[in-house]
Amino acid sequence: MTFEELNLSQEIMNAIKRIGFIKPTPIQKSCIPEIKKGRDIVGQSLTGSGKTAAFGFPILEKIKPGCGIQTLILAPTRELAVQVKDHLISFSSFTKINITAVYGGVSLVPQFSAVKRADIVVATPGRMLDHINRRTINLTNVHTLVIDEADKMFEMGFIEDVTEIIKCLPEKRQTLLFSATISSEVRNLIKRYLKDPLFIKEEIHVNQSLLKQVYYNVVQNEKFSLLVNLLKKKTPGLAIVFCGTRRQVDIITKNLKIQGINAMAVHGGLSQNRRSHAVDSLKRENIQVLVATDVAARGLDINNISHIYNYDSPKTPDEYTHRIGRTARAGKSGEAVTLVSERDHANFGHVMSDRNLNIRKGEMPEFERVRFVLDEQRRDRGGFRQNQDRNGFRHQRSNFNRGRFQRR
Ligand code: AMP
Repeated sequence: MTFEELNLSQEIMNAIKRIGFIKPTPIQKSCIPEIKKGRDIVGQSLTGSGKTAAFGFPILEKIKPGCGIQTLILAPTRELAVQVKDHLISFSSFTKINITAVYGGVSLVPQFSAVKRADIVVATPGRMLDHINRRTINLTNVHTLVIDEADKMFEMGFIEDVTEIIKCLPEKRQTLLFSATISSEVRNLIKRYLKDPLFIKEEIHVNQSLLKQVYYNVVQNEKFSLLVNLLKKKTPGLAIVFCGTRRQVDIITKNLKIQGINAMAVHGGLSQNRRSHAVDSLKRENIQVLVATDVAARGLDINNISHIYNYDSPKTPDEYTHRIGRTARAGKSGEAVTLVSERDHANFGHVMSDRNLNIRKGEMPEFERVRFVLDEQRRDRGGFRQNQDRNGFRHQRSNFNRGRFQRR
């Protein structure tokens, strides 16, 4: 199927040409005609599938510039809100449509006038509710609502805000909900707020033939050394290193810098400016490595990521798939590497229970041991003892056997 067959407006077709999309992705093929018809949609797909254009193209076609906010898009994180806004701006470059993003962590004041001029607002739920409560936003002309990454809204505890916002919107509207997974909570939300929705499920856009997935069994106190070695010797492009907690992100970032690796941290505890700066630095290739928590990296669309490293194992197959979806994009090859130590076994065992994932045991390279510094105090005391992990546990070589995660 071609974009011509989707009967898109001339303005959108011009933008598609300018951007260089050749043909629609599967989610675009299935969603665009249905959204044009005005149906409510539940799209089960991930960032990377082309879902922003799947809802963005038909939404843009329905906007009358200068007639107030007609579409509200709710996104769980500031990064995703900005990314969606940027994509929509590029899709609408041949129109006069005004698109703005509102999110917390920055001053409200410039947003007051921006939302007055906007035809489309992309918002995080908390800040949106703030605007509603202050009566600084007029939602009476909204005819389309998009709830992006609904599952993440629940995980992040935003769902009450989302339902509060929905109650402030006109009843007569089209609602589009996107979610990587449809939990019972998401299903309840769909039941309450969508009208006879069409469910469209797209398989994850990770090209398995281009994506190599490996794991290494490594003892905890050698994990950082292995990561440094892999980053220095086996990572030709950009990398994202996923950690389980904000604190871990900070510690790993600091240690990578000590090892001369150009890294920045991104997690929910950092200011909006610092998070944006880190993501932009990776996009511009000013740094090689972004160290991130799941939430902060959710939905990031960055080209040229050759490697994903799971420094801490993801907890579920879904979380794993979300992480690896950041590489092997658009015909490029990539590698997803999970470093599995004692403390990851329970989580990684859960990931491996998904038989659709094709993760193989990697052959352990020779690697040099490097220092790992927990914090300034410890560094002053001579750094970290190599036979202790960061909690001070002494380790002997792990006796988790090699075949533990191999499938029979
Ligand atoms: P999304 O899932 O919306 O975050 O999109 C992921 C990436 O795919 C973005 O970089 C888009 O610009 C790109 N993309 C979206 N639609 C297409 C298409 N039809 N052909 C090629 N790339 C696309």
